[in-house]
Amino acid sequence: MARIRLVAGNWKMHGSRASNQALLDALLKGGAGAKKAECAVCVPYPYLEQVAGLLRGSAIAWGAQNVSEHEKGAYTGEVSASMLLELGCRFVLVGHSERRQLYGESDAQVAAKFAAALRAGLTPILCVGETLEERESGRTEQVVARQLGAVTKETALAQAVVAYEPVWAIGTGRNATPEQAQAVHGFLRTKVASETRILYGGSVKPQNAAALFAMPDVDGGLIGGASIVAQDFLAIFKAALAAAGG
Ligand code: PEP
Repeated sequence: MARIRLVAGNWKMHGSRASNQALLDALLKGGAGAKKAECAVCVPYPYLEQVAGLLRGSAIAWGAQNVSEHEKGAYTGEVSASMLLELGCRFVLVGHSERRQLYGESDAQVAAKFAAALRAGLTPILCVGETLEERESGRTEQVVARQLGAVTKETALAQAVVAYEPVWAIGTGRNATPEQAQAVHGFLRTKVASETRILYGGSVKPQNAAALFAMPDVDGGLIGGASIVAQDFLAIFKAALAAAGG
């Protein structure tokens, strides 16, 4: 079945009101977002209102980079899924490796966040991926199956997006080869619904995007560093569009 490709940017903890405006102006002028391939930006919480104001009515969707597993209550510093929905978010990243590694998010917590996002009507983008040590010891499939299984045990994946992000490729300039990505995506494909999109993330750049997006089970990308450089993000989006025949 044809899955509409998606290119989502993860701005991480970058931005300012001025630079956000310049970046989004350039993306809108450059034609990001289209019928044949979707485009989204996942931005820091304080900028969601500004980004919503700039993107409302456009072909670019927006979302957050994290969400609380709780609906409301005494959770100082946390942000709930319904708050994100009120800000017009469509997407939210869940289980990014930086959250797992730097903030100790467990598989169970990621699963609870994923379920909270779905309950509120958001589309979670579930990030899974192995470390270099796990890859080199032949445990890639075991790790991504465990991360995925923690979520699918409780909830259906059909309305969600999965992002395969090998930890060793994130922010390192060393992307998985198209064949390495396809091998893991093909494995993940056997565990999700045929309509679930599986994005690849990890050092995607204009130079490698077309080859990655040409793989049969790579349905687009989750883009970190290159998503805050307008020309690079646009070029990556156009590679997804070209792969979709658009
Ligand atoms: C990410 O942060 O999800 C990511 C893929 O980063 P980068 O593209 O910079 O490797």
